[in-house]
Amino acid sequence: MDPRADVVRFVDVQAQIRTLQPAIGDAIQEVIERGDFILGQAVTAFEGEWARYCGVKHAVGVDSGLSAIELALRAARIGEGDEVITQANTFIATVGAVMAVGARPVLVDCDEHGEVDVAAVERAITKRTRAILPVHLYGLIGDIDGVLELAGQAGLRVIEDACQAHGAVYRGRRAGSFGWAAAFSFYPAKNLGAFGDAGMLVTEDDDLAETVRMLRNYGSKVKYQHVAAPLNHRLDTIQAAVLRVKLPHLDSWNDRRQYLADAYREHLSGGPVGLPESTQEGRHVYHLFVVQAPERDAMRAALTAQGIETGVHYPIPLHAQPVLRSLGYPVGTFPNAERIAAHSLSLPMYPELPLSHLGRVAQAITGRGTRRQAA
Ligand SMILES: *Cc1c(COP(=O)(O)O)cnc(C)c1O
Repeated sequence: MDPRADVVRFVDVQAQIRTLQPAIGDAIQEVIERGDFILGQAVTAFEGEWARYCGVKHAVGVDSGLSAIELALRAARIGEGDEVITQANTFIATVGAVMAVGARPVLVDCDEHGEVDVAAVERAITKRTRAILPVHLYGLIGDIDGVLELAGQAGLRVIEDACQAHGAVYRGRRAGSFGWAAAFSFYPAKNLGAFGDAGMLVTEDDDLAETVRMLRNYGSKVKYQHVAAPLNHRLDTIQAAVLRVKLPHLDSWNDRRQYLADAYREHLSGGPVGLPESTQEGRHVYHLFVVQAPERDAMRAALTAQGIETGVHYPIPLHAQPVLRSLGYPVGTFPNAERIAAHSLSLPMYPELPLSHLGRVAQAITGRGTRRQAA
């Protein structure tokens, strides 16, 4: 017997791959037969499909989510001496992109739910600010209207970090369709995941799309003529071929995540953990289902002991990361981000998560029997 059969997995990318065979294998085989491994047919096709999915004009395939943010910043000519504002409770890649272009990441606290705090962003604007980088963390689009209004008044670019929000909807529009640019990651465990690293920049702006196509490919539009920084950030054709097979399933996978989130809410209400805010239809695609636990580390250890995998996103807020200490934000600067880092616990969440597993997680947290067992 599989020794892990009893384990409640945090995420199981294999489960999804199994359901899509042999289509994925066939798609990879086609690329092998065509031999167009670099910027091949599947890249162009997937770019078109992803742009249509997001409801934007252009999508440019790149090698990671970080690269998508970095190339947007480069295209905006943001660099040394410039400031870019983002929130202290995000993955390191968000600020990594800002650092990669030599600009200064300016951090602000999130609101009490971990979403963008527009007032905090406004207070952080200086003469040097060039862009705002809101993060749709965990799959939830925060107050993007507020961000857009502020950016419009202050003359700033908005670059959405949509790396956790594939398909999230706000006012009938999809993540990625709000900012001047938006970045997606197709890291394997994301809501839409490749078989390795992959990413995408989306935009309505013709010039931006053209510039990023040039920047991702050694700064060249014409072969062997290099007019910008010679970098390689291309999306692999094989990754694009895999993503093309998966994309038609993304909406139903996100529906399933929302269904599972509702099931968690039902089982966990009145229990010892704080639940994520319930949002209007579609706004949250639950890349992660994150609860707030008073004694997070003890609860996590107890779950582990019962064969339940969990995650923490993220245990150290950015300003406390060793690599960012030089930014000069002492501990205590961002109370919401610090509280969230100390108490967040990410529960198992992936579309194929069996309901029986979800029930086990809920029971382990609340100490109650689930309804199913009571019946
Ligand atoms: C995954 C992720 C990224 C970037 O991911 P890559 O590993 O560079 O593809 C950026 N921001 C957030 C919030 C992410 O979750």
